[in-house]
Amino acid sequence: MHNGHKPVGILAIQGDFAMHAKMLDRIRAPWKLVKHARDLEEVSGLIMPGGESTTMLKFFTNEGMGGAITKFAAQGNPVMGTCAGAILLAKEVLNPTQERLGLIDIAIERNAYGRQVDSSVRAGECPELADRPVEMVFIRAPIIRRVGEGVRVLGRCGDLPVLVEQGNILAATFHPELTEDETIHRYFLKKCLIKRFGDGVIEPWS
Ligand code: GLN
Repeated sequence: MHNGHKPVGILAIQGDFAMHAKMLDRIRAPWKLVKHARDLEEVSGLIMPGGESTTMLKFFTNEGMGGAITKFAAQGNPVMGTCAGAILLAKEVLNPTQERLGLIDIAIERNAYGRQVDSSVRAGECPELADRPVEMVFIRAPIIRRVGEGVRVLGRCGDLPVLVEQGNILAATFHPELTEDETIHRYFLKKCLIKRFGDGVIEPWS
């Protein structure tokens, strides 16, 4: 563990949070599972994993987790949502619409690839993050249909934006925790470290 470095939180209500933990182990980043709102006090950032967004939403409402994440994000702490996590973060959800936190100005359509291509592994591009293609795993993935003005597209696969960022919020429609490619998690960890230690941070994990 790096000195003074709070662990990265991983929302562990439902979904594939364990694979995010595995990836953070790989890049030697400390992590902590976030099961209750109070756990957010002990982490430097939050990963919201893929899974089933409707299931996670129930917990958000019943346990007050939604409000706690909104507050955590408003304090400038980095939050990354992958797949279902991205759906929960979006400002607008289609197919059908549902509750969401609205922390990133995108419209996202659930299960948008249709049955024929329920799941796939593809090569995408994240030119600002990696100078080679990034392997991307899509599982009943959503499609980002609208990107607001303040939102940067960091990754594309084919013609579609698949990794977007607005300030401290990052959303990916794919599963970066299910490949060998560490690019996305390294980028998110860097955001957490910069928030805590300032811009001059170098990559202490490498
Ligand atoms: N289809 C799921 C949902 O709408 C997301 C799938 C995933 O996270 N792999 O919540």
